[in-house]
Amino acid sequence: MYTSDKNTDCLPVDLEAVRSAQRAIRDLAVETPLLRADSLSEISNMAVHLKLETLQPTGSFKIRGAANLISRLPKEWRGRTVVCASTGNHGRAVAYAARALGYRAIVCLSSLVPKVKEDAIAALGAETRRVGTSQDDAMAEAAVLVRDEGCIPVPPFDHPDIVAGQGTIGLELIAAVPDLDSVIVPLSGGGLIAGIATAVKALRPGVQVIGVSMERGAAMQASLAAGRLVEVVEEPTLADSLGGGIGLDNRFTFALCRHLVDRVVLVSEIDIYRAISHLFRCYGLVTEGAGAVGAAALLSGRLSEIAGSTVVVVSGRNIDPDQFLTIAAGKPVEVGSQVIRG
Ligand SMILES: *Cc1c(COP(=O)(O)O)cnc(C)c1O
Repeated sequence: MYTSDKNTDCLPVDLEAVRSAQRAIRDLAVETPLLRADSLSEISNMAVHLKLETLQPTGSFKIRGAANLISRLPKEWRGRTVVCASTGNHGRAVAYAARALGYRAIVCLSSLVPKVKEDAIAALGAETRRVGTSQDDAMAEAAVLVRDEGCIPVPPFDHPDIVAGQGTIGLELIAAVPDLDSVIVPLSGGGLIAGIATAVKALRPGVQVIGVSMERGAAMQASLAAGRLVEVVEEPTLADSLGGGIGLDNRFTFALCRHLVDRVVLVSEIDIYRAISHLFRCYGLVTEGAGAVGAAALLSGRLSEIAGSTVVVVSGRNIDPDQFLTIAAGKPVEVGSQVIRG
């Protein structure tokens, strides 16, 4: 834990909110399967299962939060425009949920977001806008659309309905793995891990919740370590979906993570490369960098002191096809100005 304050009564999301989200998103998100990961289990000397959020209709778990938030908007708002800033997967989820629930959608993207992700968003009927060179620039543009054009904001992580939606993964884990000891979760803005931790800690307080971020630009980890919100420089990474800060005006996920997350580990670009390759070779899984960081933490030995039964959340599959094929072939891949070799 990152705070000695054990009182969780005042936290903005509770188990009831997650249960309510589970009912709200039933028709849009799927209950994803767990894959028994024999090879990872052997390497890490634990019983490892993979939670395959790669099988969601938009290729990542983000459909859960977006569907929950949009389904809770007042019915008379139907037909209006929802807006978000996204590193790709949130935009795709918002586009999908908006179309299904009767809203128009605008998605603001920075130049760091891969083209393949922009195309997928546009294919779901949303308008895309390229602005600036960082997630912060895209967020500023979305804020302008909310202020000047009356668009409805759908934040990527820092909203109770988003957190509760992502938390439905926690309910599924607890139901599926009775002897769960820990859960390993990709971490960027913290909506995913905060939601899962809310559900898991309420139902099984002893289960350890471990976050994994990339070494390049781990904003939540830096903030938890400092005990206050800190900004980090955003850099190109194989885990592009983990890019972006947590906001100096963060209202919900930082407090939730401080109370509910047991620890955070960081993985390198090489660790991520090897994990993408491992998940493909051993399980035939296509995962994006962000989706592979949990496996990367286990494979690199950075979690060697945990034991027992663990679930690794494999959060998404939306990787640039050329980048994936390069990694699957074991060839060097360029990330920004760096060349990563497995
Ligand atoms: C958004 C995202 C994450 C991180 O989720 P947060 O709620 O921002 O911590 C992890 N993996 C994938 C694939 C994502 O799209």
